[in-house]
Amino acid sequence: MSKHLYLSTTLFVGGTRLEVRQVMGRGNARYPLLVQQALLRARQWLMNVPPFLHVGGDAQMASAFRHVFRAAPDANALNTLRAVNSNILRGLSDQVLGIKLLEDDGALGYVRRYYSGRKHLVYGAQFHDAKDNAIARRGEIHLSPSILDDPEMATITLVHEAGHKFSNLRDHGDKGYFSSDGRNYEQPGITPQEAMLNADSHAYFTLFMNRRLDKLNRRIAAQQSGDMDLGALFG
Ligand SMILES: [Zn+2]
Repeated sequence: MSKHLYLSTTLFVGGTRLEVRQVMGRGNARYPLLVQQALLRARQWLMNVPPFLHVGGDAQMASAFRHVFRAAPDANALNTLRAVNSNILRGLSDQVLGIKLLEDDGALGYVRRYYSGRKHLVYGAQFHDAKDNAIARRGEIHLSPSILDDPEMATITLVHEAGHKFSNLRDHGDKGYFSSDGRNYEQPGITPQEAMLNADSHAYFTLFMNRRLDKLNRRIAAQQSGDMDLGALFG
């Protein structure tokens, strides 16, 4: 049982009632708004992924898939991805969504600060902090305030946590966490089967596909402005 009292702030995000709970007396008025922005961004990111999921489609998708899931993107694997993506998106669009902000204190000292909002279930086991409080109770998404000021990290973390809650994804220790530079897993060794059930794998694949989309959009924009320049020249 948590010994803290929590103060809830309610925000509406489309049809979702978002309830952000902060420890009373230690809250920050900005945090609920940052959570709201992360939620909007996470939904958009998830919606952007399915158009990439085709066998023989975008080569960069195939390359990111092999990097993250350690296997070729065959039809079965892509169907699993579609299902996970859709579970998470549906969950993040529920009528009520509660998100609790953890305290940034020394109780999470065994976890690097970077991951303090996420490392709670290892092989399905519940972790407890130094005061024996359950770090994440089933049914609640927890985020660490320390990640909220980094919009990309806040979004990755929300997709990761929502993957636990809405699609039964798990953690696999350091071989399943991406490193702080976001390039690869902390430790080698994750198998394709594990990666398919691994929360960070899905969160980072979602990030990589959105970076890919940004790049494609920038290229189109550059091409269009190039066309306009030509138009000005010859028009
Ligand atoms: Zn996790």
